[in-house]
Amino acid sequence: MEDSYRHKGMRRKLIEELGSRGISDKNVLDAFDKVPRHFFLDLAFTNQAYSNVAFQIGAGQTISHPYTVAFQSELLNVSKGNKVLEIGTGSGFQTSILAAMGAKVYSIERQKELYLKAKRIIYGLGYNPKLFYGDGYKGQPSYAPYDRILVTCGAPFLPEELMSQLKVGGILVIPIGEGDSQIMTRYIKVSNDEITKDTYGDFSFVPMLEKTVK
Ligand code: SAH
Repeated sequence: MEDSYRHKGMRRKLIEELGSRGISDKNVLDAFDKVPRHFFLDLAFTNQAYSNVAFQIGAGQTISHPYTVAFQSELLNVSKGNKVLEIGTGSGFQTSILAAMGAKVYSIERQKELYLKAKRIIYGLGYNPKLFYGDGYKGQPSYAPYDRILVTCGAPFLPEELMSQLKVGGILVIPIGEGDSQIMTRYIKVSNDEITKDTYGDFSFVPMLEKTVK
């Protein structure tokens, strides 16, 4: 697939739109400039790749809206070199945005088909996150602790395993709720026995489900 001036122009427009909707973290906006979102979509959707729309990516899953990806990335407050664990690789777009922000990314996907497809696209773009096929409820203890943890599917509750794999001072962003909408929630692990929680409105994600799918 090619990344033409036309695509770059569409990206600039999207970045302006994200800015006008309140996204201000330069690191996030710069990453949106770098990562060609159309690489993560079927060819038929290339022209809409930079509109604020979610798309099917196969296996009944969707790539999140660009605004949602930007919003979650901003809440995560990522610094270069941060170790970030992502649950729900999906298309790999959010994974690539985090990598473009300079994070060391670890990402888990429970659907084998998506894990394999995302791997090809992400590595093809030259990003080098560690990708796992597995159940995100368990996190990835072998690389813990993480500076940041991002859940990109709608979780019925905060999985304890994830909080235990977060560093003190770390941030965990997770959409919580069952059904059609979830409440965007940000936890900060102030110390081992103090965790703060803030909420940021309703979003709509595919559900976080247990066990892997072959
Ligand atoms: N970050 C993705 C969002 C994809 S949608 C993107 O930018 O495209 C959420 C993804 O979470 C889906 O691919 C779904 O299969 C995956 N998922 C759901 N439950 C999971 C779990 N328990 N562990 C890992 N991934 C999960």
